[in-house]
Amino acid sequence: MDGITIALSKGRIFDETLPLLAAAGIEPLENPESSRRLILPTNREHVRVLIVRATDTPTYVQYGAADLGVAGKDVLLEHGSDGLYQPIDLGIARCRMMVAVPAGFDYQSAVRQGARLKVASKYLNIAREHFAAKGVHVDLIKLYGSMELAPLAGLADAIVDLVSTGSTLKANNLVACEHIMDISSRLIVNQAALKLKREALAPILAAIAGVVQQ
Ligand code: ATP
Ligand code: MG
Repeated sequence: MDGITIALSKGRIFDETLPLLAAAGIEPLENPESSRRLILPTNREHVRVLIVRATDTPTYVQYGAADLGVAGKDVLLEHGSDGLYQPIDLGIARCRMMVAVPAGFDYQSAVRQGARLKVASKYLNIAREHFAAKGVHVDLIKLYGSMELAPLAGLADAIVDLVSTGSTLKANNLVACEHIMDISSRLIVNQAALKLKREALAPILAAIAGVVQQ
């Protein structure tokens, strides 16, 4: 039987994928929160899990270092989907991509007046497409984290970031002013593996699809 390698990031994606893998009869034998190992064995001799950074998951699957992975729609839109088959929206790690501004800033009238906005984000492709579709002129500033700081420090007028409860925005006196898209995580599959390892992969995909649709 062909070996199967699954790329997961630790934290919410690992945690929320566990029950889906369990439905396919796959159980990692170690917990990435307590283990320092980056390759985790599972109860199935031929199945292993790689622990990767969330933004690196599509890269591992695209190059075939992993056959399967789970990645957020945000990560997939920023990375691109070359060589990736995306059969299932898993409905996990749900949040929203939003534009947010300081509480006192009138975003709608700035947009109406055709102001040129400085927007900081980790998600430049998503931000670029969103503002281009609205015809809003923006200068995009790439950040790698703590986007909430940018408007407070005077780096940007607005941010594009993921929001779930909104408590981080609130704690920093920011408000979400525009919804860009809903985000959830998808199963991604290496396109070549899908053909070459079909016998091993098909039952796993079917079992996961079965529990997701319930
Ligand atoms: P890190 O937090 O270690 O810097 P990361 O932000 O890339 O890494 P996670 O926080 O594990 O990784 O997020 C993984 C995915 O989960 C994101 O790509 C996104 O799709 C989703 N996500 C991010 N933040 C939230 C949230 N607050 N609630 C629900 N889902 C989220
Ligand atoms: Mg995070």
